[in-house]
Amino acid sequence: MEDKQYRVLLYYKYVTIENPEEFTKEHKELCNSLGLKGRILIATEGINGTVSGTVEQTNQYMDIMKNDARFADMVFKIDKADEHAFPKMKVRHRPELVTLRLEDDINPNELTGEYLEPKEFYERLQDEDTIVLDARNDYEYDLGHFRGAIRPDIENFRDLPNWVRDNKDKLSGKKIITYCTGGIRCEKFSGWLVKEGFEDVAQLHGGIVTYGQDPEVQGQLWDGQLYVFDERIGVPVNQKEHVVVGKDYFTGEPCERYVNCANPFCNKKILASEENEHKYMRSCSHECRVHPNNRYIVEHELTEEDVAERLKQIEEEAVKN
Ligand SMILES: [Zn+2]
Repeated sequence: MEDKQYRVLLYYKYVTIENPEEFTKEHKELCNSLGLKGRILIATEGINGTVSGTVEQTNQYMDIMKNDARFADMVFKIDKADEHAFPKMKVRHRPELVTLRLEDDINPNELTGEYLEPKEFYERLQDEDTIVLDARNDYEYDLGHFRGAIRPDIENFRDLPNWVRDNKDKLSGKKIITYCTGGIRCEKFSGWLVKEGFEDVAQLHGGIVTYGQDPEVQGQLWDGQLYVFDERIGVPVNQKEHVVVGKDYFTGEPCERYVNCANPFCNKKILASEENEHKYMRSCSHECRVHPNNRYIVEHELTEEDVAERLKQIEEEAVKN
């Protein structure tokens, strides 16, 4: 089989960038000239990016970045891909690389949790006295997570500190290990946990992506898929076994297929089989189904009678169950 021709890069670095707005402009020009696509955030505190391109384009990009003293030791996580994973190239200047909005911001270069390499993390996962805390959002957890990890029911990363304060009794006095996709969220979050008074805090260095590629652990003790913020949506992690943990929003059956609620004002991510997507008009609730802007109804050119018929079927189904 021919090797794949595209690559997806995932990378970040907390390092001071002077004149971030100017750097954003230059960096956008660079990425466009190379033919990359993806999403890059630039702040005074550093860079956070994920881009796709051909092997040659991504190699050129990594070479250029490594020649810049600020990014010389930046780690690039590399995934093979069949094609671009993004529709276009966006480079944005932001106040923060990850939106946490702490009253007192944390510089991970000064304060962060202990770094665990994949092998150490794998061992800690099996330690009974250790609490495994997922630092991602609920919909990311629902597609896949480390076996036994705690799921904070948050839709945004910035809600995580409040969730921790509300659930302090679960975490106090425990050894805590935390993880996220590529490691960037945990850099700040684990630092925040230390500052908050938790004494034994560690983080998965390089995130789930690095863990899945590690030749020794090969993603073991991960169940489901890894949610990624590009057109692939889900990618495999565990090379040894695949356990589906995703559940169909409507029926609870095993499912790894994400769709967005057809009500554009809701847009909630729901796991749904193709069959249930049609049955429930790709909507998370009755209110979303009958919303005047429902995208599913427009896309499928449903008449009022069609919609009424579907609603009746859904009602009958609900009575049956
Ligand atoms: Zn909805």
